[in-house]
Amino acid sequence: MSCKEWIDKLEVQPLEREEYIRLLSEYTEEDRLYAQEKARKIGDHYFGKQIFVRGLIEFTSYCKNDCYYCGLRRSNQKAERYRLTEEEILDCCREGYALGFRTFVLQGGEDPYFTTDRMVSIIRQIKDAYPDCALTLSIGERSRADYAAFRQAGADRYLLRHETANAAHYRILHPEPLSLSNRIACLESLKELGFQTGCGFMVGSPGQTVETLAEDLLLIRRLNPQMVGIGPFIPHGDTPFHDQPTGGLELTLFLLSLIRIQQKQVLLPATTALGTIDPKGRELGILAGANVVMPNLSPVMVRKKYSLYDNKICTGEESAQCRSCLQKRMESIGYTLVTARGDYPA
Ligand code: SAH
Ligand code: SF4
Repeated sequence: MSCKEWIDKLEVQPLEREEYIRLLSEYTEEDRLYAQEKARKIGDHYFGKQIFVRGLIEFTSYCKNDCYYCGLRRSNQKAERYRLTEEEILDCCREGYALGFRTFVLQGGEDPYFTTDRMVSIIRQIKDAYPDCALTLSIGERSRADYAAFRQAGADRYLLRHETANAAHYRILHPEPLSLSNRIACLESLKELGFQTGCGFMVGSPGQTVETLAEDLLLIRRLNPQMVGIGPFIPHGDTPFHDQPTGGLELTLFLLSLIRIQQKQVLLPATTALGTIDPKGRELGILAGANVVMPNLSPVMVRKKYSLYDNKICTGEESAQCRSCLQKRMESIGYTLVTARGDYPA
């Protein structure tokens, strides 16, 4: 079969592992554009020209983990650490609400300061103050009991990228005690507990191959998540991967298209990392099949400190500027930002 035929097949059924591998090894620019057009049609069919917006609140830069790729890893002595107070987090929500955001994403390192009780208190306060908003958490691996408590307190969604579906590759990216099996167990718990759940991976992470990418697409198929987050790997100067190459723009765009074709209604952001490797990265991401953007709502004071990778964009602008900048960018390609929770269709 040809790449175009595999892309056609993906619209009706998943590919075999070998087919994904050949598609990812053999595709040309023409095939990529073919996938892009198909992906965009599917996206427009389900979502029209509407782009959902999520306000990202990066509330702690402390992390107990040591992921080799990430600037917040605990061994990075140069990382500047901060935590937002409950009040500061609520201030971000207030500002975001006024700007029309109806989803807030609380993201941070795995910070033991934020115990179950502290998280539950924050979740309750946000959901009490903004009952019409969705709340997404992205705070890594916790116990199933914690996840259940967060859900009980009102959290609606959870983002936990699986990072890679291949155990050996997972080990290249993370030291022990982190493991792929626990990551997947967490994702399964989250789904069972009724979270709208997101997995995903970095494109071009060290050790990634067409084989591991094929496994990523198969895992996404199996988990059938409501959200998928992918963006290019970008090296951070103070990590062991400081001299590794940045993930590719075209490959990221192609994978966004394949995920849209395969997962149809999935909520798929054009990420900040994509906007960081190319000045038009997020626009290109939308045109390739993404339908979500996640402007930064964190206080400008702390933004540079939340340094997962180098040269991250939007660290100097106020939240209102980020929103209007993104609005203009989306309008420039014929899309509009909408004020809506933007849930996965029931
Ligand atoms: N601590 C949580 C959430 C914060 S990190 C967690 O790890 O799940 C959020 C995401 O940032 C990670 O899932 C990873 O995919 C991405 N990330 C980290 N370092 C990165 C880098 N150097 N380049 C691109 N993305 C990175
Ligand atoms: Fe911590 Fe997440 Fe960075 Fe890993 S990717 S070091 S868990 S913030």
